[in-house]
Amino acid sequence: MKDKDYFVLTTNVDHRFQKAGFDKHRLFYTQGDYGLFQCSRPCHQNTYANEAVIREMMKAQGYGIDTDGTLILPEGAAPKMMVPSDIVPHCPKCGEPMSMNLRADHAFAEDEGWYLVSERYAKFLCRHQNMKVLFLEAAVGFNTPTIVKYSFWRMTREWKDAVYVCLNYGEACAPDEIEKKSICINGDIGEVLDQL
Ligand SMILES: [Zn+2]
Repeated sequence: MKDKDYFVLTTNVDHRFQKAGFDKHRLFYTQGDYGLFQCSRPCHQNTYANEAVIREMMKAQGYGIDTDGTLILPEGAAPKMMVPSDIVPHCPKCGEPMSMNLRADHAFAEDEGWYLVSERYAKFLCRHQNMKVLFLEAAVGFNTPTIVKYSFWRMTREWKDAVYVCLNYGEACAPDEIEKKSICINGDIGEVLDQL
């Protein structure tokens, strides 16, 4: 993707796009990010990078450190389900426990970074409207289809040079209205991307 003008819109919260080296300025993690903590209330909208604390928690669960710095379980060991409560960080403002930055309920914190990247995505779409655009959808199911799938369908229909690609294992489909502008590939995404 290095030389491409792209943007990633994801409902995944697993921080894998960041880990895989995608430019975070081109990444809109709409539903939150497990790499971030927030106040559980939340009393304020800031988020906090949590890698160091999560590593501490994993060590407390019985993980050891491999030679390359990754955390692994000793052979045959099962991780402890609990961590000592004094490792759980508390909100610097109100003192309540911190929680994951995940849109699970009304308590989701949308911090400044979230708004900035949301705006950046909107501007990206504006800049590319009616240009040759590929909407590449990978592994989007019908759990939260409104965010990625339905918006891609709508823009593919409205933008005359847009093409929609649906990569999906078992649910590769497109509506009749954009049939001629759609490529649906039913298969294992890892294998399909390797073949590309
Ligand atoms: Zn708080």
